Amino acid sequence: MRFSVRLILFFAVTLVAIQGATILTTQAVLRRSAIADGQTQIVAAQARFFRQLAELQDRLAEGVRLLTLDFALRQAIADGDSATVVSALRNHGHRVGASRMMLIAADGTVEGDTATNKTHPFPYPAMLDRAAEEERFGSVAIMDGRPVWLVVVPVMAPDLIAFVAAALPLDDAELRRIHEVAGVPGRIGIAVQAPQAWKRAAGAIDAAVVANLPGDGEPRAFTGSDGNEALAISRPLATPPGDAAVRVILDYPLSEALRQYQFLSLALLPVLGVGLLATLAGVTLIARGVSRPIELLARQTQRIAAGDYGVQPTLPRRDELGQLSVALGTMTSAIAEREQRILFQATHDSITGLANRTAIAAAIDVRLATGPATLLAVGLIRWREITSTVGRDVGDRLLREAAARIVAYMTGGQGAATVARIGENTFAVLLPGDDPAAASAAALRLIDAFDQPYREAELTIDTPVAVGVASAAAGDTDAAQLPRHAEIALAEAVRTETRFAVYRHDSDPYRPERLSLMGEMRAGLTRGEFWLAYQPQLDLRLGKITGAEALIRWNHPTRGPVAPDDFIGLAEETGNIQQLTRWALRAGLTEAKNWQDRGIPIRISVNVSVHDLTDESLPDRIAKLLREKKLSARSLVLEITESAIMREPEAAIEVLRKLDEMGIDLIIDDFGVGQSSLAYLRRLPVREIKFDKSFILNLPKSNNNRSIVRSVIELGHNLAFRVTAEGVEDLETLLILHEFGCDKAQGYFIGKPLPSDALLRLADGWRNPSVIQPRPVVP
Ligand code: C2E
Ligand code: CA
Ligand code: CA
Repeated sequence: MRFSVRLILFFAVTLVAIQGATILTTQAVLRRSAIADGQTQIVAAQARFFRQLAELQDRLAEGVRLLTLDFALRQAIADGDSATVVSALRNHGHRVGASRMMLIAADGTVEGDTATNKTHPFPYPAMLDRAAEEERFGSVAIMDGRPVWLVVVPVMAPDLIAFVAAALPLDDAELRRIHEVAGVPGRIGIAVQAPQAWKRAAGAIDAAVVANLPGDGEPRAFTGSDGNEALAISRPLATPPGDAAVRVILDYPLSEALRQYQFLSLALLPVLGVGLLATLAGVTLIARGVSRPIELLARQTQRIAAGDYGVQPTLPRRDELGQLSVALGTMTSAIAEREQRILFQATHDSITGLANRTAIAAAIDVRLATGPATLLAVGLIRWREITSTVGRDVGDRLLREAAARIVAYMTGGQGAATVARIGENTFAVLLPGDDPAAASAAALRLIDAFDQPYREAELTIDTPVAVGVASAAAGDTDAAQLPRHAEIALAEAVRTETRFAVYRHDSDPYRPERLSLMGEMRAGLTRGEFWLAYQPQLDLRLGKITGAEALIRWNHPTRGPVAPDDFIGLAEETGNIQQLTRWALRAGLTEAKNWQDRGIPIRISVNVSVHDLTDESLPDRIAKLLREKKLSARSLVLEITESAIMREPEAAIEVLRKLDEMGIDLIIDDFGVGQSSLAYLRRLPVREIKFDKSFILNLPKSNNNRSIVRSVIELGHNLAFRVTAEGVEDLETLLILHEFGCDKAQGYFIGKPLPSDALLRLADGWRNPSVIQPRPVVP
């Protein structure tokens, strides 16, 4: 429920409750005062009623006394003329309103009666005595079952001769009269006690009151049979002994009085209603005043949460809400600022302040949406060496300087270029278009830009760069690959002399086809699709085949034979080479064991590559294999390329040292294509080099190669290296090598890579007397 609604509801409920309580309290108070008022009234009315009753008695007694003084009556009494007496009584009775008149003899016998001709004894003899004593006596009595006011007066002449009694009925008419005279506000009734209960004898008094008569004293409230409330009061009227008890009841209807008070309550209602409305209106206004700004702030907070910092929440107020709004505003700017910083950090490099890989990827996407794009990957060469020499701090400054140079060169001519740092020592420059000439021009300018060394205080650092270039057409789905392609080209560029290379899909080691080939290779190794071919190695001094190089062969189930050059390099790049080496070592040593068992003295050479040399477990694994096959270390030769050693020289030399200690001969393969000198190689535990076949294949024709080969053999021998040549395709070459003093030769002329048994047959039949002559003649 909304805050304002709750506030309004709270006030409404509270107010209605208070008003209800007020009305109820007022009514209770008014009612009590109405009842108290009624009580006073009814008590006063009762007193007036009784006063009237007393007057009635006096008037009646006075009327009867006047009759007793009447001469004619006295005469008639004296004469015993009852007919005259009765007639006088009747006449007089009419005058005073009596319903019955009696003449009672002094002995108490009724001698004349307007109601009957018979004589009978007066039913209340005690009344006669009282009347004789007090000259008159009146009392309520029950005659013929009805209450009457009975008055007895003695007739004196001068002594008592008789009594006259007059009975005035206390009937409805009489009561009405007294009612009027006494001014009683309610109703009057007379009740007579019957054997079971009280019975109404006269008056209009409510039956409910008669059935449940109030006692003397305090008036009592009751609800009449008509449903109206009233007060009732009753008082006994004295009756002669033997007669039933008689009570006078007065009631006083409260409904009238209460109605006035109710009117007052009703009159209060509109006042309360108006008050309620006014309060509600006020509360609604206040609630709105409180909740409107809160809702406003809440809506603005939601917008902030949704990332919209555009609208600053401002409430022009001095109160707490105003302060909250100010705080919210401050918070919003802080969030916006922080978010901007985070965004900047997420898309920028912290060292150079250039865009980072994420940002350049986004820029490439944008560019490719409208047209082709070219990415140059610019790598600082020799970076590891530089940072390990000068330290991180100088390295970071150098990076900043490099970034500044790239930006200066690129944005100088190519305003649209975007520069980023995408790797530790790699920057990227995004250019529009895919014109190869423009790309290579830009690349060359960049390479030139780094001709100048980096200078800092006494420090001068050469910071050559290489540049790899990759392009993509507009809408090219491979766009995300652009930075990766440029980096692959960069890796190639680092190896070339020009320091510049363009990405080519078919040489991409990570292209999907090649990766699938790796999967097939791993499966093929376990399925037995690989085998080893053995190429004989001829000892030029002994003229005998003393060794064989194990060369791997793959019979692919669908592709047919796959050349090692097509998968060895890939296996090295993708980290699958160790598995292959393991297989080759096991297969080669199994064959070597076979040869040893047959007494054939041929040593086996196995090629190991880059990752094998950094694998510390290689020596142990080889030792285990040799033990398993019961072979001496002498039967195994390992061929290593210099480039494999140069990758991670320290780790590689450690592994080589262990292998050397085990007694395994190590050969430097492909000698001559790398940079290292014999002097450097001497520091390694290697005592044999194998010329790369590129020097040997055209030996007879190339004077240059001949002189290189000759001098290397001489120098090598001086440095205690043995020298092998591979790629010997003809006799002439073999003879030249023999003349130069080369130790061993390998090549198609001697034998191609062969299955094991073919090799053994070839080795067994090898005879070439011309070669084993100490000094062959070279034309
Ligand atoms: P590599 O170690 O330089 O092996 C010599 C390569 O030269 C072999 O090619 C061999 O057939 C070839 N060759 C030998 N004599 C002649 C010749 O007179 N003329 C010509 N034109 N070529 C000759 P292959 O067998 O195709 O092997 C290519 C490369 O594959 C090898 O070069 C080696 O680097 C690698 N390789 C082969 N087997 C293995 C292996 O088991 N493990 C590892 N790590 N690499 C292997
Ligand atoms: Ca080799
Ligand atoms: Ca080789």
